[in-house]
Amino acid sequence: MGKGEYKRLRFARLQIGIIGVSIVFITALHFATPLSSLTLHEIYQRLYYVPILAAAVLFGLRGGLGASVFVTLAYLPHIFGHWQHHNPNYALNQYAEIIIFNLVGITTGALGDRSRRARARLEHTAEELQNAYGELRSTFEQLLQADRLTSLGELAAGVVHEVRNPLGAIKGAVEIMEDAVPADDSRREFAGIAKREVDRLDKLVGEFLRFARPVKPAVAPADMNEVVRAVATLLSQQAAAQDTAIHTELDSPLPRVLIDSEQIKQVLLNLVLNALQANARSGEIALRTLTSESTIVVEVEDTGGGVEPAMQARVFDPFFTTKEKGVGLGLSIAYKIVAQHGGTLTLRNGARGAIFHVMLPRETG
Ligand code: ADP
Repeated sequence: MGKGEYKRLRFARLQIGIIGVSIVFITALHFATPLSSLTLHEIYQRLYYVPILAAAVLFGLRGGLGASVFVTLAYLPHIFGHWQHHNPNYALNQYAEIIIFNLVGITTGALGDRSRRARARLEHTAEELQNAYGELRSTFEQLLQADRLTSLGELAAGVVHEVRNPLGAIKGAVEIMEDAVPADDSRREFAGIAKREVDRLDKLVGEFLRFARPVKPAVAPADMNEVVRAVATLLSQQAAAQDTAIHTELDSPLPRVLIDSEQIKQVLLNLVLNALQANARSGEIALRTLTSESTIVVEVEDTGGGVEPAMQARVFDPFFTTKEKGVGLGLSIAYKIVAQHGGTLTLRNGARGAIFHVMLPRETG
C-alpha cells in the first residue's frame, strides 16, 4: 500500500469514527433526557440527519445506508422501551421518522455515488486529454524537426549540385596540366595534392547529398539482434584501443522486423561512434534490444557524461556539432533514416552518460 493510500484510509477511518460517535452521543442524549422534555427529544431526533447525511456524502450508498441502519438500531430500543407505553402516538411518529432516516440515507448515498462516478469520469477524461496533449506536442516537435531537416536538406542539395560540377572540371583540368608536366618534375606533387583535395571535397559534398536525398529504405525481414551484434563486432577493435568495452544485452528471441539493415547499421554505427567519442579515453558502451507489443527498441548508452539539457533538442539539427572536427550530420542523418522507417530516435541522459533510443515499429515497410 502506498503512503498516500495509507493516509487516505486512516482519514476515512477517522471520519467513520466521528460519525459513529456522534450517533452514539445523540442516542445517549435521548436516554439521558426525561420523557417530559418532549421538545428536546424532537430536536435530538432531527440531529440524527447530520451524521446520516455526512456518511452519505462522504461514503455514498454504503455510508448512507450504514449510518441510517446504525441510527435505527441505536434509536429503536429507546422508542420501544420508553415511548411505546408512555406516548404511543409519538412513538408512531418516531417509527415513521426511522423509515425516513433510511430513505434519506439511501437516496443521498446513491446521489453521492453518482456524483463521485461523474467526477471520476471527468478526472479520467482530463487525464486522457493531458496525455493526448503531450502526444500532440511531441508529434509537433517531431514535425518541426522533420521540417527543419527537409528545408536544410534541400538547401544542401542545391549547394552540392553547384559545387560538384566545378569540382569535376577542376579535377579534369589538373589532370590535363599534370600530363604536360614531366614525370620527374616536383610540380607533379602539387597536382597530386590538388587532386586529393578535390577528392576530399567531393566526398564531403557526397555526404551532404546523402543527407539531402536519403535513399528510400529497401526493407526486408531482419533480426535486429544480428544487426546490433554486427555493429558491436565492427567497432570492438576501435573501442578496445580506447579502453572501452561494448556490452550487448539482447532481448531474445526477438520478432523479425522489416528494416533496411544497412541503413539501420549506419544509424547504430553513428550512435556508437559518438558514444566512443563521448567516452574519450575509457568507459563502457551498452547496446540493448528491447521489445514491446508494437515496437522494437535499440538502446545505446555510454558513460561520457551525457548531453546538457539545453543542447538536447539541438543535437539532431543538421550541422550542429560541439566537436572541433565535427560535421554535425551524423545524428541528423540517423534521425532521418529512423523516421523513414516509421520510427523515432530520441535522447535522454542516463546515470553516467547519454542514452539514445532507436524505436522502430514492429510492422515497418
Ligand atoms: P558530430 O559527431 O559530427 O558532431 P553528430 O550529429 O553525430 O555530429 O552529433 C552532434 C552533437 O551531438 C555532437 O557534436 C555532440 O555534441 C552531441 N552528441 C552526440 N552524441 C553524443 C553522446 N553520445 N554523448 C554526448 N554528446 C553527444
